Amino acid sequence: MDIYNSRRLSGTTTQIMDCTGVYAFLVEGEEKAVLIDTCTGVGDLKGYVEKLTDKPLSVILTHGHCDHAGGAAPFGTVYLNDADLKLVQYHAGMDMKMDYARFCNPEVCGAMSEKDFCPVRTGGYSSLRDGQRFDLGGVTLEAIQVPGHTKGMTCILNIEERTILFGDACNNGLFIWAEEATTIEEYLESLIKLKKHEQRYDTVYMSHGDVTVDKRVLDGSIEVCREVMDGKADGQPFDFMEHHLLMAKKTNEKGERADGGIGNLVYDPKKVFRERT
Ligand SMILES: [Zn+2]
Repeated sequence: MDIYNSRRLSGTTTQIMDCTGVYAFLVEGEEKAVLIDTCTGVGDLKGYVEKLTDKPLSVILTHGHCDHAGGAAPFGTVYLNDADLKLVQYHAGMDMKMDYARFCNPEVCGAMSEKDFCPVRTGGYSSLRDGQRFDLGGVTLEAIQVPGHTKGMTCILNIEERTILFGDACNNGLFIWAEEATTIEEYLESLIKLKKHEQRYDTVYMSHGDVTVDKRVLDGSIEVCREVMDGKADGQPFDFMEHHLLMAKKTNEKGERADGGIGNLVYDPKKVFRERT
């Protein structure tokens, strides 16, 4: 099995998949290229990307988790929102990415050692700000910060092409409970802010599972947050490692919402409302 595969999604965008099942996206304008996310750091992503483009390349990380930031070390300029700087230090460290890769694909990664992984980045990060634009020549990307899954979580809008990468901003089982996540109350505010951009895109890309998703996943997620806050969610028990969490909407054996809706999340019942002083 190859570590990396890719396929063209549109005139400007190529989806790159790694053997752990996460996606990065290469976006090329007439003059420059941007790699959005860097997968988990298995093997040589930079070498793979250089076969796809020879344009000057910079990297944007949607957030600091190991499956998005793990392969960032060999690249020059790497943008990341400041709110995820602390997170990326440990989450994209060697132990975390090796554990993640072995867990996701024991067959390919089980026998791998440190030398099979991208080293830990020492080059630092450039600040990725909400609203920041990147002009690639005929292609403009815009960063939209959506704190929730992590505090620095950022969606990337391709303005001319009317596509947006939600990444891990919302999906059908979003993890929003860990230390780096916001409360559900703050997450809802982020989603309402994201919704203001809804008329600017037709296609939504995701970082895991189906690469495109119905754009109504955003409305579904907003509704689910409101149900959690109103105490009306199903709250199906969901144990993950030592943590006793809840899946907001009941799921079937395929992990889809039992009521047929889209948008779902895993939350900690102690982390619904922001702390009030
Ligand atoms: Zn993540």
